[in-house]
Parts: sequence; structure tokens; C-alpha cells
Amino acid sequence: MSISSMQDLLADFADRRDWNRYHTPKNLAMALAGEAGELAAEFQWLEQDEAFRVMDDPEKAKAVRLEMADVLSYLLRMATVLDIDLEAALKEKVAINEDRFPPRSS
Ligand SMILES: [Mg+2]
Repeated sequence: MSISSMQDLLADFADRRDWNRYHTPKNLAMALAGEAGELAAEFQWLEQDEAFRVMDDPEKAKAVRLEMADVLSYLLRMATVLDIDLEAALKEKVAINEDRFPPRSS
């Protein structure tokens, strides 16, 4: 599924519930931060090896997967509301980081 298809899916979901009035940039930024916190909570207090094995437990794996979907959903909604091309933004940021963090010389 392309980024724009995911955005269309979420826009349709919001439209059919008349939720666009709630999907302001500020509300979406707060919701995104909240969901990122919920994702982080799934890893809270885990040792490093436990964190790497989190997907081995079906229940924990589902929780992580769904929190990541929540984060992605609000990021995509925010991009739609602010008319931001996420693919272009990602390329722009990677180019900036290429300059900031030169690759290790071998
Ligand atoms: Mg959540």
C-alpha cells in the first residue's frame, strides 16, 4: 500500500465519522506524541535482550504492532492536514543527515 493510499484510507475513516473537525494540526501532534509514548511503554523496563525478543510473544507482538499503526496513522493524518509530502520530506531529511553524519570510512 502506498503512502497516499494509506492517507486516503485514514481520510475516509475520519470523513465517515465526521472527525475532521478534531483532526487539527495541534490535536494530531498531541495524539502522535501520545501514541509514541504508548509504543515506548511496551518496552519500558525490558532488558535489551527482552526488547529484541518482543515479537516472539504473540500478545506483546500484537501490542507493539498496533501501537506502531497508531503512530503511523497520526503521522499520516498530520501530513494530510498540513499537505506535506512525506516521501519528499523523508528524502530531504536523509540528505541533511548525509551531510551531518558522514559515513564511516573503511
Ligand atoms: Mg495506542
